[in-house]
Amino acid sequence: MLRRFLFAAGMAVVVGACSTSKVPAPAAAVDPGRLEAMVKVLASDAFEGRAPGTPGEDKTIAYLIEQFQAIGIQPGGPDGQWTQAVPMMRTFLESPQLAFTYPQGQLQLVQGENIEVSTVRAAEHIHAEEVPLVFVGFGVTAPERDWDDYGDIDLTGKIAVYLVNDPDFAAEPGEPAAGRFGNRRMTYYGRWAYKYEEAARRGALGALVIHETEAAGYDWSVAAAGAGERVALASNATGPAPIALQGWLHEGAATELLAMAGHDLATLRRAARQPDFSAFELDGVQFRVHSDVTVTRFDSRNVLGLLPGSARPDEVLMVSAHWDAYGEGPPDAQGRTVRAGANDDALGTAGVLEIARVLQTGPPLERSVVFALWTAEESGLVGSRAYAVDPVYPLETTVANFTLDILQTAGAAQDVILVGEGQSSLEDDLARAAAAQGRYVTPENLPENGLFYRADHFSLARAGVPVLLLMGIAGGADLVEGGRAAGNQWIADYVGNCYHKPCDAWSPDWDLSGAVQDIELFLRMVEDLGNARRWPEWRPASEFKAVRDNSAAARREDG
Ligand SMILES: [Zn+2]
Repeated sequence: MLRRFLFAAGMAVVVGACSTSKVPAPAAAVDPGRLEAMVKVLASDAFEGRAPGTPGEDKTIAYLIEQFQAIGIQPGGPDGQWTQAVPMMRTFLESPQLAFTYPQGQLQLVQGENIEVSTVRAAEHIHAEEVPLVFVGFGVTAPERDWDDYGDIDLTGKIAVYLVNDPDFAAEPGEPAAGRFGNRRMTYYGRWAYKYEEAARRGALGALVIHETEAAGYDWSVAAAGAGERVALASNATGPAPIALQGWLHEGAATELLAMAGHDLATLRRAARQPDFSAFELDGVQFRVHSDVTVTRFDSRNVLGLLPGSARPDEVLMVSAHWDAYGEGPPDAQGRTVRAGANDDALGTAGVLEIARVLQTGPPLERSVVFALWTAEESGLVGSRAYAVDPVYPLETTVANFTLDILQTAGAAQDVILVGEGQSSLEDDLARAAAAQGRYVTPENLPENGLFYRADHFSLARAGVPVLLLMGIAGGADLVEGGRAAGNQWIADYVGNCYHKPCDAWSPDWDLSGAVQDIELFLRMVEDLGNARRWPEWRPASEFKAVRDNSAAARREDG
């Protein structure tokens, strides 16, 4: 606690220096009382769990705009509006008939049991017979790592069958793939989103990823939980049309499928780890799908606030969190139905509002700061993706994105957890800002879970913007009281009992001193970069360096 108060006092002096008051203004530090008050409102029953497209959304949007107005932030959306429209759709496959067929018979596939498929195409039916299947291994095309699994295979109108994760996840030391994809650390190439996009780029009808618990980072029940429903961005003018069918194939069904074509899953896994592996069609086996699709369209909104820069307003720093949560669900043991998302991510949202308030109170920054409160993160990063494909401020001159998504509520920490080690120079900024707080940086302890690819900052990363995410479940913090063991215990309790459940509610047991430290970290980094001329950069090994490099001419260091 002492460390936090020292730091807060330091913040106040910075602002006090430019005012005539002898007493440092108390408004200059992140205020845990304000965080708590905002979380209590956002996570209250009246907000119904803040599901996009519900009355809970209307209340949330009105409240967020009110907060921005009260602290003197300008509207930051298109045409001077507070909000950016996010057209969305919900698709559901109605009792899909699915099977693998081969001359001797067929393997019936049962939605939720041995397959989980859905669609992000706004079509009323999906009907396809005698569809060829192609085993594509990990399905990676990574020129910077000298890796290509596709060769000259044509995927047009076919189903691509993928292994989950990337080629070196299970590689033994000494295998040629070892270390080519960050070892156990997940790369973008390991994520299902990448695999679906690659299949779409190649004109495939669909993509099935063979589920494995360890390599996926979650078990079959989680993979199958979608149950044929998807929520997605309804209009996506850029990029190829999405595949018609996407999802997971249970390991058992995959084993049977490959056996029908005369192959063995374990053997193919080893083969796919070899650099000379090339995709091939599964002889004699075909896929069949018949399903009606229910498509429901609705509109949601991102909320955007702006603090214009005094000298270089076109250079934009972005601080963000997601306002949405999981709406209402089945009652828990205490009869609660509202999944309030108090921590995930009402607390992050409150953190963004606090950063906005403190910056607005302080001396103007040379660069602009945009405060982005995204919708539909829980539906698959939809709001942030809508922004990335139709940005209000050019992405090539967006300096960095800072994202708060789940902050630990167990008290002050000696360290801060870094998600995505080795991705960008922002980790150097983080280390400096943490040192100024008397804290040190600890890399996330489960990089194989790929958290770097699972929050809204990732939508910006894919578009080339350097990003930094603070996420309380990325690794147990070294707490001032109780050390790392206490930090790990907090994660075990939160993830085990509360994550995405009614239990994620405000509690009088919350100790926000660690969350305040993290919010102040971002505040300090934004203040620093807000008056700097430098542009954070991706590291040479990052999957996102190439796209950023394409727009290098738009960024000048000399102003
Ligand atoms: Zn979240």
